[in-house]
Amino acid sequence: LSEMKKISKLRGMQDLDPTETRKIDFIEKSFDEIVNSYGYQEVRFPILENTELFKRSVGNESDIVNKEMFTFDSRSGKTMTLRPEGTAGCMRMAIDTGLIDAGQQRLTYKGPMFRYERPQKGRSRQFQQLSIEAYGFSDSSIDLEILEISDYLFEQLSVKKKMVLEINSIGSQNDQREYSNKLKDYFTKYKKELDEDSLKRLSKNPMRILDSKNEDLKNIIKKAPNILDSISKESQENFSFIKKCLNELKIDYVENPYLVRGLDYYNDIVFEWKSNSIGSQDTVCGGGRYDSLSKIIGGREANAIGFSIGLERLSLLLEDSQIPNTKSVIVVSLEDSFFLEGMRLSSLLRETLVDYSIQYSGKDKNLKSLLKKAIKKNIDFMVIIGRKEIEDKSFTLKKLASNQELKLDNFESLIKNLK
Ligand code: ATP
Ligand code: MG
Repeated sequence: LSEMKKISKLRGMQDLDPTETRKIDFIEKSFDEIVNSYGYQEVRFPILENTELFKRSVGNESDIVNKEMFTFDSRSGKTMTLRPEGTAGCMRMAIDTGLIDAGQQRLTYKGPMFRYERPQKGRSRQFQQLSIEAYGFSDSSIDLEILEISDYLFEQLSVKKKMVLEINSIGSQNDQREYSNKLKDYFTKYKKELDEDSLKRLSKNPMRILDSKNEDLKNIIKKAPNILDSISKESQENFSFIKKCLNELKIDYVENPYLVRGLDYYNDIVFEWKSNSIGSQDTVCGGGRYDSLSKIIGGREANAIGFSIGLERLSLLLEDSQIPNTKSVIVVSLEDSFFLEGMRLSSLLRETLVDYSIQYSGKDKNLKSLLKKAIKKNIDFMVIIGRKEIEDKSFTLKKLASNQELKLDNFESLIKNLK
């Protein structure tokens, strides 16, 4: 066979080795435990959806729909899109399956999302989100619950000290229309300084300008009209209630009146958790209320709120040392005639030490090289059975980190010493 050219991964995609995967897995398990304890139930829905779903919900003027979607035609010519986010798909599923008609729902999902973006630290084309969504709750206690869950998760993962919670209220869709007009007047005065994207948004969706990543516009944005002057009394009161409770609960936050989030479907509370220790892609979690989404995609009227965490960005905040170690054992039998004894002992150890990893070296009897490999792989223990051990039903145990060797008379004392 002639030499074949190596096939590499696509641009913006990520491979995770066992160490990286273990970290991700630890975060996912912590997330599951916490959201389950609040009564959120896991759901799954497709990665591929009708393109129209995202156009209608996320919004035509959003970055996502404008330039970030992986869209293609199916064989029959139907246009489909790899999901860039989960909120629309989750709601679509809840409508399709009737969940939305079955009363209040607390739902959670996680998985890959796809956006055609310029790859850099904290930004890739396939990334993962951890999300929760709550449907059918109208009063602000659910807003607080959602905020509390995020706070509690980051606290539990010991990353909260590296993060800041920013909150804002963007009022009802009506309030936003009024505010958009004010913004249009304001930004029109700076037309010359706006970039191409912002100019496009100026006529179609001026609030999106506030979400611009262009550093040159930061100063103009900072002096733009404040949304809090445009929101209704009811929205003001809800926002005040939430802030008051956050104060009482000692959940620290910063108010950012220019936080609008990158998607069209939000109303009232919006929030982001940011960190300045992971580079310029600093938003780890984003969320808010989106009471109009259900109707936008053809469902009944239904209150809704949720958040999404960028798993890879959160993972950047965790130290490797925070990930609990799985204790590991390698079983070695020194003669072919004890092959099955070694196998049985390995099974017994797996049954007894359920959260350990137990490997069996099988027919490999080269103790010296086995030892070398085991130390290199940071395996904690080696259990050796040779002729002597088989005859008097004993075990030789090597503690690899301390280079200690113990002769143990029976299985009970072996287990004791493996702890
Ligand atoms: P950003 O401002 O970084 O573009 P966004 O507003 O587009 O984020 P959301 O749609 O709110 O992001 O998604 C929620 C979270 O998902 C983000 O806060 C971030 O942690 C993560 N995320 C979004 N896009 C990417 C990406 N391309 N790569 C990695 N993580 C991402
Ligand atoms: Mg983005």
